[in-house]
Amino acid sequence: MKKIGILGSTGSIGTQTLEIVRNNKDLQVTALAAGRNTGKMEEQIREFQPKLAVMWGEEEAKELRERVSDTGTRVLSGMEGLLELAVETEMEVLVTAIVGMIGIRPTIAAIEAGKTIALANKETLVTAGHIIMPLAAKMQVPILPVDSEHSAIFQSMHGENRKRVSKILLTASGGPFRGKKRKDLSDITVEDALKHPNWSMGRKITVDSSTLVNKGLEVIEAKWLFGVEPSDIQVVVHPQSIIHSMVEYVDGGIMAQLGTPDMKLPIQYALFYPDRRPMNGKRVDFFSLGSITFEEPDVETFKGLSMAYEAAAAGGSMPTVFNAANEKAVALFLDRKICFLEIYDLIQGAMEHHQVIENPSVEQILEAEAEAYEYIMRLAQ
Ligand code: NDP
Repeated sequence: MKKIGILGSTGSIGTQTLEIVRNNKDLQVTALAAGRNTGKMEEQIREFQPKLAVMWGEEEAKELRERVSDTGTRVLSGMEGLLELAVETEMEVLVTAIVGMIGIRPTIAAIEAGKTIALANKETLVTAGHIIMPLAAKMQVPILPVDSEHSAIFQSMHGENRKRVSKILLTASGGPFRGKKRKDLSDITVEDALKHPNWSMGRKITVDSSTLVNKGLEVIEAKWLFGVEPSDIQVVVHPQSIIHSMVEYVDGGIMAQLGTPDMKLPIQYALFYPDRRPMNGKRVDFFSLGSITFEEPDVETFKGLSMAYEAAAAGGSMPTVFNAANEKAVALFLDRKICFLEIYDLIQGAMEHHQVIENPSVEQILEAEAEAYEYIMRLAQ
């Protein structure tokens, strides 16, 4: 029996992880955490009977405690609750599927307690990769990627000598606005940005896919996960999302992982690595697919990617500012307070305003985040 915990169990990755638990009787859930969705958390507690559940808000935790008082689940709240969840004694694997930088401290605590990390939360490595990766190496804790592209790279490196990698080819669908130019993007609505052509995901990451900020975050994440320079990571637009990413080796050979766009495969791969378990679902049918195509990304129009490379090159606290400014700007866009193109302007402004701190501590990362939030809120007024 493998015992797992999930940070962000009510979200897109969290609920798909629970679907995998449903289909694999040798997985057991010991701990779940969510933000505010007490209704869904109650359902999950009744179905999976974890020992521990955490709600971010104290009010929500209080409400949940009453609702599940007939079960054996203990309910905690806030960062204290997340940190207690991270070190829950029976849990072997922690799936970090929370959204935002709130995931950093629980992830560090889980690594220090020797838990395997199934990492979905991008912000953790983007902002604190310089802390997380050496700590995981020291504790000999595996960091198993859940994001489909990083899982594909990880799978394409399986059994290979990592010193022989010459570059990573990170694929991108190009998002819903592929082929459009800046002038076509001025009146994009929230509804337009939420229509991803291939993947079904949470709202924030769907908008990030449309700006190519998501791809930029993935470049920075890949740098930390696989120990490569951003200049050795090439983004390739592949609109059909069948090749989930590729690795080129020094002899020119390229390994790739292909499949239908379904997050359950990379989640399950991380949960059972190095085994592959059966999974129902659609298969790639090459005859009906006919052809797959590739393009260069348009980084002039979709500045999310070029700004991410700039942030990675500046290093230190700059990726935190890139990420935090984007988070706030996307929230403002989803609230219909700013237009689509202003997302780029706000990120650019926050990055220009920031003085880079080399090797930031967790406290300095959180300060840089707060500073970026404040700056964006001031600019947006
Ligand atoms: P969702 O928005 O769908 O879900 C986020 C989850 O985090 C929810 O369960 C939410 O709880 C919980 N949450 C939010 N704030 C807190 C908090 N302060 N304390 C505890 N829980 C909290 O996001 P996704 O599942 O789409 O994404 C999660 C992460 O995975 C992101 O970092 C994203 O970039 C990454 N990712 C997602 C992919 C996808 O396909 N969705 C693919 C690859 C990576 P509640 O709803 O109850 O408030």
